Amino acid sequence: MADTVNKTLDPRLNRRGFLKGCTMAAAALGLSETMVPKMVEAATSAQRPPVIWLHFQECTGCSETLLRGAHPDLARLILDIISLDYHETVMAAAGHQAEEAMHQSMEKNAGKYLLVVEGGIPLAENGVYCKIAGKNAVDILKEVAAKSAAIIAYGTCATFGGVQAAKPNPTGAVGVDSIISDKPIINISGCPPNPVNLLGTILHYLTFNRLPALDGLKRPKFAYGRRIHDHCERRAHFDEGRFVEQFGDQFHKLGYCLYKVGCKGPETFANCPVARFNNEAGVWPVSVGHGCIGCTEPNFWDTMTPFYDRIPNVKIPGSGIIEDADRLGTKILGVTAAAVGVHAAVGIGKRLIKGKSDGGE
Ligand code: SF4
Ligand code: SF4
Repeated sequence: MADTVNKTLDPRLNRRGFLKGCTMAAAALGLSETMVPKMVEAATSAQRPPVIWLHFQECTGCSETLLRGAHPDLARLILDIISLDYHETVMAAAGHQAEEAMHQSMEKNAGKYLLVVEGGIPLAENGVYCKIAGKNAVDILKEVAAKSAAIIAYGTCATFGGVQAAKPNPTGAVGVDSIISDKPIINISGCPPNPVNLLGTILHYLTFNRLPALDGLKRPKFAYGRRIHDHCERRAHFDEGRFVEQFGDQFHKLGYCLYKVGCKGPETFANCPVARFNNEAGVWPVSVGHGCIGCTEPNFWDTMTPFYDRIPNVKIPGSGIIEDADRLGTKILGVTAAAVGVHAAVGIGKRLIKGKSDGGE
């Protein structure tokens, strides 16, 4: 880790933890275990990729999720395989010293560093709603992006504008790819995103010398190629028509499907049921009894709300199509169209798309 970043967070990762992290990343990437030694070799190269991590209009939840105590191994692994030259939350430097560190890294590593962006970028009123060291976020982004090798937009704020972009979006918040068009950009969406997907992306970049394949929204297919619903552990209950009718009822206690209490899993693309969160605890929202809120999808704050209303037009086996969510109808049709677009982009769900086309959508 670069001198500018606090080294006292945790001791360096031991070899067991390192191998475990690489194995986890290989699994997330869909690679066989035979690739793990190659990934370890790439990750332990003396040439750790320099990373500049910028924060803009956000809650810092993305960094928090990465660094939180429940999975220090994962944070440690990521921080050990990269050289984190600038990160406002964890770096020891401040003020002019911090600015100098960032510019030194930019000059020394021009064309080679990865830029990670956390937070949306407000464009309204010349970007006055987010200023750091006297500069607007949009100007900082353009300056740092210009010399980067590639950009990782980390979290739904950086990818799609974030909750602050909810209508009427008073600050004009947008994601990175609305501003930067001349650099490779990879969107790791989620509010917050799963650190495993950041680890997988970085290890893919180091091992194969290129970014992973992306879907139509610039998200890595390995993480966003399938819907939550397609690999949810409650899916058998959905297929058999066993639903929670109300939070806390007997069916909730039995672990039935959460669709009727608002789960957006049928319209959301992400690997949460497989990657899970908090490392050892290995939980995710649906496993602890809360429906998916669709946080990896663009505009989820407008299109997936109200969070506790069921989404319409979802076919339930043996029960026909649920169409009684009138308040959501118009909005969700847009979401469905977007989801079909992604499906097409990743080459999955051809039958579903055909079904929707036949239905006149
Ligand atoms: S994506 Fe969510 S968790 Fe990450 S900074 Fe934005 S609001 Fe916070
Ligand atoms: S609706 Fe939600 S809880 Fe039910 S199977 Fe689909 S993703 Fe799982």
